[in-house]
Amino acid sequence: MTDYLVRAIAKSGSVRALACVTTATVGAICKRHDTLPTATAALGRGITAGALMGALLKTGQRVAMRFEGNGPLKKIVIEADANGSVRGYVGDPKVHLLRPDGALDVNNALGRAGFLTVAKDLGLKEPYRGTVQLYTSGIAEDLALYLVESEQIPSAVGIAEFIEQDGTVAAAGGFLIQAVPPVDPLVIEELMTRIEQLPPLSDLLHKGGNPEQILEQLLAGIPYDILEKRNIAFACSCSRERIERVLLSMGKKELSSMKKDQHGSEVTCEFCGEHYLFDEADLDQIIAEAAKQEA
Ligand SMILES: [Zn+2]
Repeated sequence: MTDYLVRAIAKSGSVRALACVTTATVGAICKRHDTLPTATAALGRGITAGALMGALLKTGQRVAMRFEGNGPLKKIVIEADANGSVRGYVGDPKVHLLRPDGALDVNNALGRAGFLTVAKDLGLKEPYRGTVQLYTSGIAEDLALYLVESEQIPSAVGIAEFIEQDGTVAAAGGFLIQAVPPVDPLVIEELMTRIEQLPPLSDLLHKGGNPEQILEQLLAGIPYDILEKRNIAFACSCSRERIERVLLSMGKKELSSMKKDQHGSEVTCEFCGEHYLFDEADLDQIIAEAAKQEA
């Protein structure tokens, strides 16, 4: 099954809502990083957050999110674009932390103290950047706080997953709901009450619930239109050419000593784990190019 996201707006125009299922994408990315279950849940929530944030962008725009905490997981780094492509990694994929009740403890794995930084490449000279302190370190609440505090849009976010005993991602997904200005405080209050009363999102996802069904629960009784449906998938934008450009930017001197000391270079993409090997002959070519640029 393909992962997808749906975008809807209340007929009154007062509320915008997104819902997505990201099971396959989370499974694919976590498999690449060989994560243990708690790290899987954490990275999975980050990926779903990325898919939701990406859907708020316009074509060609990108968003990067960094959740950094004082826990053993250290960080969750996510990048997403408006086309539904997501990639991400965690500081330590081998974190497996449980709460006393046996549930995966994402909050303490990331750590209670820290920051969420969101950078948006909107095609302007400088990326838009906002930072908030981590709130619960459970990801959904942190993203909601960022949207409310930094972007000043009343928002609620729900993100959930269902991880099997053996670590398989059985289900993942989430929703994001926002008040559209001029904001009606009554609408917000009603939505918040409704969200509190919803059955657990992980149950709905685990039963095979799709994004349309998440929206139905979320917006029950509010007439709305579905504006769009888009696929969500893992994609990494790394390539040999991009890595070459990074090497080239190091300059002739640095590259020459790299050649002399290491007889080549191996660069691994943090996002997808792809290895790029450059032998002495490859480095010679890049050194020649660097020399030309420096001349
Ligand atoms: Zn990559």
